[in-house]
Amino acid sequence: MNKPISANQEFQTDFLSVSEARTAISDLIRKTQELAKLKEAIDTIPLKESLGRIVAKDVLSPIDVPANDNSAMDGFAFNSKELDANQDQIDLRIRGTIYAGQTDVPSAQAGECIKVMTGAMMPPNCDTVIPQEFTQSSSEGMITFAKGAVRPGENRRLRGEDLQAGKAAIQQGRILRAADIGLAASLGISKLTVYKKVKVAILSSGDELCSTEEQLQAGKIYDSNRFSLYALLDRLGFEIIDCGIVRDTPEELRKAFTSASQKADVIISSGGVSVGEADFTKQIMDELGEVGFWKIAMRPGRPMAFGSLKPISPKTTPTVFFGLPGNPVAVMVTFYQFVRNALLQLNGAVNPEIPLVSVQSAEAIRKKSGRTEFQRGVLFRDQEGKLLVKTTGSQGAGILRSMSEADCFIILHHDQGNIAPGDWVDVEIFDGLL
Ligand code: AMP
Ligand code: MG
Repeated sequence: MNKPISANQEFQTDFLSVSEARTAISDLIRKTQELAKLKEAIDTIPLKESLGRIVAKDVLSPIDVPANDNSAMDGFAFNSKELDANQDQIDLRIRGTIYAGQTDVPSAQAGECIKVMTGAMMPPNCDTVIPQEFTQSSSEGMITFAKGAVRPGENRRLRGEDLQAGKAAIQQGRILRAADIGLAASLGISKLTVYKKVKVAILSSGDELCSTEEQLQAGKIYDSNRFSLYALLDRLGFEIIDCGIVRDTPEELRKAFTSASQKADVIISSGGVSVGEADFTKQIMDELGEVGFWKIAMRPGRPMAFGSLKPISPKTTPTVFFGLPGNPVAVMVTFYQFVRNALLQLNGAVNPEIPLVSVQSAEAIRKKSGRTEFQRGVLFRDQEGKLLVKTTGSQGAGILRSMSEADCFIILHHDQGNIAPGDWVDVEIFDGLL
């Protein structure tokens, strides 16, 4: 296999919609994943190191959870036959007490109950627990409660109710979060089998770029894209290869892309893909692989290059290439909207999409139908406590501060037109509980 993979016929089309672009990306990612046999590259790692990693095979529970029938309340366990008595008030003698974790458990005979703590094993013969607060002490060693206060089987957790032995507790493709790690621990599992991290190379292209270590010269700007990309990738847990700043010459570009594709599964560059800027990048991409220079009907982020580079020894499989626009906001938008899910999908994640939430807009927003817009938004509550969203104001693609001030994207879909105050809009929240 010495050829790049092409996405699909729509590859060179002018003005792809966002959803067409996503489909083309997803198709190429799937082909690459199969070719590179990425699903066979797995690691078994300690639980504590597994946050954010992607589960490579279903985690089966070795035990029933809970392992025994047990009490869901502090109270008194008894046999529900006691409730058949032809009287409104039930009186029971306290035969003994069971604490959580205690294994020598007394049993209750007719007319008796056992005092139980939450989590304590249910005594033999008992199937129901009356919570402590519904009972009174009638005389020494006796309780009484209203017959209607509890129904048979209430306040008892059954063995295997949460999870049965042999069933999948965590499914293949899951991106591990704190709760999954706690769940694995609760099953006595100390190691998890996850996919090896996909390797992602990043580089910035542009003659005007200056690194943060250098003195800023007249006419130059600091390279910020590599830092936001680094942070985005770091947060997602990928292995990052930082290839630095590359000047806009065919020689430098060729050298940089060749070396990056020898090491990485994916290359993400920023800059050099807009009309009038793309000539060198196009020339090099034609030499090294098959890459489409897309105009996407979106804002920001219209120009984007995507495709794959031929395998270059020692690598034997093609390298996925994302050429993001140069504008700092456009870089973040295209990363979130296309690259994030593609990388997670390549790394074996199932359904990595971020949910959309519907919120009312506090203000009018101008929007042209026929393109998707990703405005930077801030969520807030009005005086009545109603959740609303407003934009961060100026939405220029170069204004990174707008991204820093925002806590969500306001997503104005392809066919949507102008937004009036009070209209419902979809938002994608940057941070949630993890
Ligand atoms: P380009 O897509 O290369 O035409 O770049 C579009 C705009 O983004 C220009 O104003 C560039 O100076 C700016 N830009 C490109 N790359 C970077 C970068 N790595 N960091 C900050 N700004 C950049
Ligand atoms: Mg440039």
